[in-house]
Amino acid sequence: MTAASELIACAKRYTLSVYRQRELVLERGQGVRVWDTEGRQYVDLSAGIAVCSLGHNDPDLVAALVEQAGKLWHTSNIFYSEPPLRLAQELVESSRFASRAFLCNSGAEANEAAIKLVRKWAADQGRSADNRVIVTFRGSFHGRTLATVTATAQPKYQEGYEPLPGGFRYVDFNDIAALEAAMAAGDVAAVMIEPVQGEGGVVPAAPGYLQAIQALCRKHDALLVLDEIQCGMGRTGTLFAHWQDGVSPDIVTLAKALGGGMPIGAMLAGPRVAEVMQFGAHGTTFGGNPLAAAVARVALAKLGSEAIAENVQRQAAALRAALARLDAELGLFSELRGRGLMLGAVLRPQYAGQAGVILDQCAAHGLLLLQAGPDVLRFVPALNITGEELAEGLWRLEQALRAWLAAR
Ligand SMILES: *Cc1c(COP(=O)(O)O)cnc(C)c1O
Repeated sequence: MTAASELIACAKRYTLSVYRQRELVLERGQGVRVWDTEGRQYVDLSAGIAVCSLGHNDPDLVAALVEQAGKLWHTSNIFYSEPPLRLAQELVESSRFASRAFLCNSGAEANEAAIKLVRKWAADQGRSADNRVIVTFRGSFHGRTLATVTATAQPKYQEGYEPLPGGFRYVDFNDIAALEAAMAAGDVAAVMIEPVQGEGGVVPAAPGYLQAIQALCRKHDALLVLDEIQCGMGRTGTLFAHWQDGVSPDIVTLAKALGGGMPIGAMLAGPRVAEVMQFGAHGTTFGGNPLAAAVARVALAKLGSEAIAENVQRQAAALRAALARLDAELGLFSELRGRGLMLGAVLRPQYAGQAGVILDQCAAHGLLLLQAGPDVLRFVPALNITGEELAEGLWRLEQALRAWLAAR
């Protein structure tokens, strides 16, 4: 077996230096547990950034993958195959709003499709290019392609990549007056928003906020686009996060947990926009790949189940209670926020910027955890995690936090 240090040296020598991985090499996983090449075991409360929502090595996902692997891997979209067609049907039927689906390979690609669809819809209405503005929100994250990074209203992701595509406007999240002002000129074609901001710090839309946005969109004949790439697929307690907000969007994007770990994304289009893109208007070679789609069908069925919804409620309450208890003892957090099993613990001002160091301690104590910016610990475990597994992860967290405090 290759030693971890040799593999890490390989990464540092041969891969683009755009990531700062923790110094461990993961080798296999089972449920919420992962093992590295040195045989150390971790409790995984990161789930590959909210991707492995059924844990690692789920037997039903493995069976779907193996079965499809023995049949057909790839057709491109010039021929039909059953898995992507059934997946599209199942997404549309379970969505409560969509008429059609476009399958692709990632979140950025799903949002790119959404942005293009908005622009084309506006163009078809005879709106000039100046009147196809898409409003997004400070703290948002929509991807890393040039258009989606422009939609991402955070300078740190954009700096150095100018000139950026035009036609985006940014407003503060959870500020309805700011949005109203931004739409007053009548040049806005769509408002694009995460129902719970993920990378921006795990910030949920305030109660009633999405409804107020929907009302503004209707008033100004603009589309409502929801990026549920991180918060969708059951993570917040319902298959789609916006079900809890009581809105009916025009476009929803999905990725991350959709494939249970297989790379796949989807853009769902409601009746106002479902016929806008016709032959030749958009496309992708790998999108709806039979392997990814076969796995995603099973992931969708499982993540949409009553059992998952109930477990999310139960474990989310346990997670909140445990973090509140930890905070009462150690005095670390100024706020716990999020929805369902998408929870952010905001570090108190005196610990600002420490999230990364804390995560190093977590890894050293057998826990894989995420941050959302420098000041927020982000919890996005598998949605089928048991109470015992969660408790073990939180026990490791406590040890890590105590070690970090002692070393300060
Ligand atoms: C991760 C993420 C994306 C981008 O997805 P990729 O698959 O990394 O391109 C877009 N929007 C949100 C809300 C995300 O969390």
